[in-house]
Amino acid sequence: MPEPKIGANMTSLVRDLINTVRGVGDTSHSVDAHMQAVLEQLAELHGQAVENLTAAQARLQPSPADAVSALLRAQGRSASPEALLPGVKSEDRSIPAAGATLRARVYTPAGHGPFPLVVYFHGGGWVIADLDTYDAGARGLSEAAGAVVVSVDYRRAPEHAFPTAWNDAIAAYDWVAANAGALNGDAGRIALAGESAGGNLAVATAIAARNRGANKAVAVIAVYPIAQTGNMATQSYDDSASAKPLNRAMIGWFLDKLVTTPLDKADTRLDLINADLVGLPPVTIINAEIDPLRSDGEMLETALKEAGVAVTRKVYMGVTHEFFGMAAVVPKAQEAVRFAGEQLQRIFAGAVQRDAVQSGAQPRARLSPKDPAGAKLKVLGYAAKHSFSDLKPFEFERDAARADEIVIDVLFCGVCHSDIHQIKNEWGNTIYPCVPGHEVVGRVTDVGSAVTRHAPGDLVGVGCMIDSCRQCEPCLAGDENYCEGPNSWLATYNGPMIPAAKAPGGINMYDRDNSFGGYSSVLVVQEDFALKIPGNLRPELAAPILCAGVTTYSPLKHWGVKPGDHVGILGFGGLGDMAAKLALAMGAVVTLFTTSKEKIADAARLGANAVLETDREALQALRGKFDFMLSTVPQKHDINPFIPLLKRDKTICIVGALEPMVGVNNQAVAFHRKNVAGSLIGSLQETQEVLDFCAQHDIGPDIELIDIEQINEAVKRAIDAEVRFRSVINMASIKPNDPAATVEDAAIFVTE
Ligand code: NAP
Ligand code: ZN
Ligand code: ZN
Repeated sequence: MPEPKIGANMTSLVRDLINTVRGVGDTSHSVDAHMQAVLEQLAELHGQAVENLTAAQARLQPSPADAVSALLRAQGRSASPEALLPGVKSEDRSIPAAGATLRARVYTPAGHGPFPLVVYFHGGGWVIADLDTYDAGARGLSEAAGAVVVSVDYRRAPEHAFPTAWNDAIAAYDWVAANAGALNGDAGRIALAGESAGGNLAVATAIAARNRGANKAVAVIAVYPIAQTGNMATQSYDDSASAKPLNRAMIGWFLDKLVTTPLDKADTRLDLINADLVGLPPVTIINAEIDPLRSDGEMLETALKEAGVAVTRKVYMGVTHEFFGMAAVVPKAQEAVRFAGEQLQRIFAGAVQRDAVQSGAQPRARLSPKDPAGAKLKVLGYAAKHSFSDLKPFEFERDAARADEIVIDVLFCGVCHSDIHQIKNEWGNTIYPCVPGHEVVGRVTDVGSAVTRHAPGDLVGVGCMIDSCRQCEPCLAGDENYCEGPNSWLATYNGPMIPAAKAPGGINMYDRDNSFGGYSSVLVVQEDFALKIPGNLRPELAAPILCAGVTTYSPLKHWGVKPGDHVGILGFGGLGDMAAKLALAMGAVVTLFTTSKEKIADAARLGANAVLETDREALQALRGKFDFMLSTVPQKHDINPFIPLLKRDKTICIVGALEPMVGVNNQAVAFHRKNVAGSLIGSLQETQEVLDFCAQHDIGPDIELIDIEQINEAVKRAIDAEVRFRSVINMASIKPNDPAATVEDAAIFVTE
C-alpha cells in the first residue's frame, strides 16, 4: 500500500495544527496517520455540517466512504467493492416488512455453504446513509466471519419515525431466519451486527429475539453503537464533542429527527443500557478512540456484564467513528474487521458444539419434576438492576413448587450487609437483576406432593442456602455450607456459589443461573432448606438469626466458647449484635470493639464491655486476655492490632470482609501459636440450633422494622453504621407495582 500523505513520525504539534485546520476537529487525541489521510480527503470533498441541513440535503453530503473511494483513486487503486474483496459475491434482494418492501444486500463468502448468517444494520443515525455507504463493513465481515451477511436497508427518519427502523430490523431478522436455506445459510447460527445506529439495532433485535424465545441470535457485533440517550455529556461526548466525521451536534440532530416525543428517548429499544439485557448471547463491542460514542460502548459493556452477558470490548486508538468500513486504506480497520470475524467464527463453531452437548445432556437426577408442570407464581419484589442503581419494584415469576419444594409467603426479611455487597457488585460476581434477601421468615402456603417436613400454615425460616449437592463429603457430613459439589450450594439469591460458567464442564446442576431472594412476596425452596421457627420466637426477630445469627453462632460453637471465656467482637452491627448476645448466653465475658462512640452505651445495656478500636491504650491493657475473637467488620481491615490481645493457641476468626485483607504480621501469630481463621455462615443443623438456642435463652436481635419503600435509605444507614442493629423489612408493605416506578416497564422475568 502506498504511504499515506502524512508521515507517522510527524510531530504532534504540527499534527494538532492540521487536525484543527483540516480534519479531525479534535486535538486531544493522537490521530492514526492512515486515518488522518481519510479525514483530509473528506475535508477536501467540502461537505456541509449535517446538523445545519434538512434530512434530504444531509443525505446528499459526501460520506467517509466517498473519501475512501477518492483516496483509493488518488492512490491509483480501484474503488470497486468487488475488486477490493474478490472472494465475496453480493446480490440485492427484497425483504417484506409491514407496510414496506425493504432492500437488502446479501454477501456470500467463497466456499460451499450452508454458511452461518449475520443480519447487519448500517449506520447513519437512522436518518442518513444506506447500503452503499456501509457496503465495505458488511462485505468485510462476510469474508472475515465466513458468513452470509444480509445488510438491511431499514426505513429512515424523519419520514419514518421511531420505532419503524426497529420493527423493520426484526422483520428482516425473521425473514433471514425463515429463508436461511434459500440464502445458503444455517438457521441455527444467526448473529446480529451493525455500526453506529445499526449497532443499536443489532442489540435491540437480539433483545427482541430473546423475548420471543424462538430463533435466538447466537452473537452480536456492535460497532460503535449508540447505546444510551440519557447523557450527552459522557467523557467521550466531551472529549470528542467536535470530532469528525461524527460530533455531538450531529447525534442531537439525528435524535431530534428520529423521535416523535421526548419519551421515545427513554424507550429501552433506544436507551439500551436501561433495557433488560439478561440472557443475551455474547456481545462484542468495537469502539473508536476519537468518537463521541466511545463512552456509550463502555456503558453498554458494564450494563451487559452486570446482566451476566459475556461481553468483549476493544477500543481502537487513533481512529474515528466510521473507521470500520475503511479496511482498504486504514490498517486498524482491517484489524477490527478481522477481530469481529474471529469472534463470530469462534461462537459459530461453539454453537455447533453446544448443540451436540445439549442434545446429550442429562438433567440432574435428584431434581424432582415440576408439580404441576409449567405453572408459574407471580411475585412482587425489589431488585437492583445495576451496581449503580437503587433497589426498585420488580415483578417476576417463579416456577410453582416441585414435588420436594414448598411455597412460602414472605412475612419479614432482614437486611444483611452481604445484600449490600451483592447489590453493589463488591464481590465482582453479581448477576443482575439482583433481588437480595437471605434472612427470611414466612408462612408456608403450599407444599409439593413429596414434602414431609412442612405443612401449609407452618412458620418457617430460610437463610443463605436453598439447596446443595448433598453428595459430596461435606454435604454428607452435614456441612452443606461448605459443599464441594461442582456448583457448590445454591444461594437464596445470585444463583449457585459456583456458576455454571466456572464449574467443571460447564455443569449447571441446579438448572439455573440466578435466583431471587427474600426482598419479595413469595419464595419457593427445597423443603430441607426451610427451618422451623420456634413458637415463642417473634417472626420479625427470627429473621436476622437466619444469617447474622448462624454466621456468628457457628464459629462460637466451632471454637468451643464456654462459660467464663473472654470473647472479643470487632464491629457492632447486625452480626456484632448477635455475636455478643450469643456469646453472653453461652456464659462468656464479651468485649465489643467499635468505631462508634455512641455504641458504647448499647454494649453496656447488653452487659458487654466496649472499647473504641482506635483506643490504643485500652488495647494495650487487654493484651493476652481473649480466648476467641470474631471480626464482623464489612470491609478490608487490619487485624494486626488485635492479634496480641489473644491468649496463646487462641483464634481470631474473620467472618466480615470476604475479600483480600491487610497483611498479617506472622511474627505475632507464630510466637504464641495463634490462629487466624475464617468461617462461612453455618449448616442447616446449626441454623436450626441457633433458632432454638435464641428461643430457649430469650434472645434476639435489636431491629428497626421498615417498609420496603424505605429499603434504599436502610442500605445507606447500614453503610454509615447507623442501624441499631438490623433493619428488617415488613414484607406486608410490598404492593403491586406502580408501572411508572418499575425497574423495567412490564418486566416479567421467569426464574428457576
Ligand atoms: P452491618 O450491620 O453493616 O455492621 C457492620 C459493622 O461493622 C458496623 O455497624 C460498624 O460497627 C462496623 N464497621 C463498618 N464499617 C467499618 C469499617 N470501615 N471499619 C471498621 N468497622 C466498620 O454488617 P453485618 O450485616 O453485620 O455484616 C458484616 C459483614 O459480615 C459484612 O461484610 C457481611 O458481608 C459479612 N457476612 C459474612 C458472612 C459469612 O458467612 N462469613 C455472613 C454474613 C455476613 P461499629 O459502629 O461498631 O464500628
Ligand atoms: Zn447475610
Ligand atoms: Zn455438596
